[in-house]
Amino acid sequence: MRVRTLAVVLLAGGLALTACGKEGTPGESASGPTQQVATDVKVDGSKTFENITKRGKVVIGVKEDQPNLGYKDPTSGKYSGFDVEIAKLIAAKLGFGDDKIEYKAIASAGREQAIINGDIDYYVGTYTINDKRKQQISFAGPYFTAGQDLLVKKSDDSITGPESLKGKKVCSVTGSTPIQKVKSDNLTESSNIVELQNYSQCVQQLEQGAIHAVTTDDAILKGYAAQQPDLFKVVGKTFSKEPYGIGLAKDDKALRDKMNDILEEAIQGDGWKKIYDATLGKSGSPAEKPVIERY
Ligand code: GLU
Repeated sequence: MRVRTLAVVLLAGGLALTACGKEGTPGESASGPTQQVATDVKVDGSKTFENITKRGKVVIGVKEDQPNLGYKDPTSGKYSGFDVEIAKLIAAKLGFGDDKIEYKAIASAGREQAIINGDIDYYVGTYTINDKRKQQISFAGPYFTAGQDLLVKKSDDSITGPESLKGKKVCSVTGSTPIQKVKSDNLTESSNIVELQNYSQCVQQLEQGAIHAVTTDDAILKGYAAQQPDLFKVVGKTFSKEPYGIGLAKDDKALRDKMNDILEEAIQGDGWKKIYDATLGKSGSPAEKPVIERY
């Protein structure tokens, strides 16, 4: 199966198949299709691309505790998931293969600052495009749209949607849009809001019975539910729209345009679908193809 996927990718790229992909072939990705690495790439006027080229590697901000999206295997140290594959696709089309990528796990609250500081070249990790964030950074995309949802214990029938959270302890993450919504829409009393750094910490609290619900994007919660299906369930009534973008330096329009071109091509062709099918598509319902918004 992996060999066939590799062959299709190479042939689709118009290349003769000269080598056979084996398990563990360098550059072969852990969770998705192998990307053909572009050569002689130019992104005129992009400061970020200039830095990447000088450095000889791409530094990408990701999540490390979100199964099927951005997940670091504790044993192998390998990153996998939909966001990671999107990050690799962009890197490959910029001319950098898997061996030229360094991942930095950055929690939701640290994303804007990491981009502003130049600690990372770009960020791919369930990062909702919105106007507030656009004041500090810019976004390519969207490459997917999720929606806020709730994760509860499987035995809990008392929580059926956002309107049933009063009197319940609800956990979400600092610097995220879901914690913002819990507060601005008064979904529960402020004394019942538990705010942590990562969603996996919230899930642990739920498992221990210290809270009643974790709230964030359905795509993230489905990943946790799939890991422990006997313990958790996703309520399944989304109550927001969370279009995911790739975060990058605010003033780097040249790189943003290039990334949008790369995403557009992958969406129009079969690149995006292959990534989706190999990752998120395994646990969720089929997704609509995203429409890139240029600005
Ligand atoms: N998509 C939401 C956000 O960007 C929640 C997921 C996350 O915190 O990464 O805030």
